[in-house]
Amino acid sequence: MARPIAAVPAATVHRIASGQVILDLATAVKEILENALDAGATNVEIKLKEYGSELIEVADNGCGISNENYRALTLKYHTSKLTSFADLQELSSFGFRGEALSSLCAVAEVTVSTRTEDSTTGTRISYDKNGSILSTAPIARAKGTTVAVKELFKPLPVRFKELRRHLKREFAKLLTLLQAYAIIATGVRIICTNQVGTGPRTRIISTQGLASMRDNIVTVFGSRTAEALVALDESSTDGISMHGFVSRASASFGKLAGERHYFFLNGRPVNLPKFSKVLMDTYRIYTSCGNTANVRPTAFIDIRLPKDSYDINVTPDKRKALIHQEQSLLEAFQKALVRMWEPAAVTLPPPSRQ
Ligand code: ADP
Ligand code: MG
Repeated sequence: MARPIAAVPAATVHRIASGQVILDLATAVKEILENALDAGATNVEIKLKEYGSELIEVADNGCGISNENYRALTLKYHTSKLTSFADLQELSSFGFRGEALSSLCAVAEVTVSTRTEDSTTGTRISYDKNGSILSTAPIARAKGTTVAVKELFKPLPVRFKELRRHLKREFAKLLTLLQAYAIIATGVRIICTNQVGTGPRTRIISTQGLASMRDNIVTVFGSRTAEALVALDESSTDGISMHGFVSRASASFGKLAGERHYFFLNGRPVNLPKFSKVLMDTYRIYTSCGNTANVRPTAFIDIRLPKDSYDINVTPDKRKALIHQEQSLLEAFQKALVRMWEPAAVTLPPPSRQ
């Protein structure tokens, strides 16, 4: 006999959906970091314990959260960044879906400490897994917000075990993501440290709030990587531009620079697999050892597009993008690469002495 169709209890729906917003360690940290950047922070300190599996603590010096928002902070689809669907096209913040903090509460133990400019003291708020306030307490702190996430994925046993079993791999993903934000967030000091057991805190990443992408690349990857890069600057009259850096068309430099593709859409780190492919395919043609598979170019490219020409709201983690004129953009990207690399390819070797 057919079973009755009934509504899934709200708490169950919440837990199921939250696992899709907070996919892994990297997305958990990404969401909190994006909130700090959206809050106008110029200083963000990320403290991890056991690479984030035990504790993720992100402290910012942004605008803080006011009293009347403590409850809404962890309610699903509650945001201060968007009020109508039309706002989506004008948006410049990382967040807009209002589901990160509520989802974090469903998959970990969340505590928020915060203070706004005009409050005299700070407040620490603990939330339960439904995002309800468990307790509040006054604390002394400077303006800004600290979000602490303890025991990520405890309520999702499979993911809890997987994270701990593959901690190295998961942490590597987090590091790549942090590097992307550290490079694009000019003018923001981002520091990330980790502590294993009772050992000393080790520094994972640290930028100095410098003003240019190139300065941030030097800080994050070192001057040797930066020296192996050339600037790519392309603009067209229709408001589209590409700015950044790619490896020189020289195999040895390519090898040195490693295997990093960082793409940004209007300053938002995203995965653009088709652009990565164009980069790889074109690089192979113009590097001196054309078909050597282990030579891979590094790229840091910020693509600037009119806001109504792409859609970032394809997956909850906003890492995928639908771009209206992707094909013509890919062609423009390829042409820019060819223009940059071609002269090196045709440079004749010094005449041999006979
Ligand atoms: P979204 O970022 O999509 O708005 P979130 O769940 O990430 O959704 O955050 C909900 C709201 O909480 C934000 O819109 C913002 O108003 C507030 N918020 C979150 N983190 C911070 C922070 N670090 N500083 C100030 N406000 C914050
Ligand atoms: Mg957010």
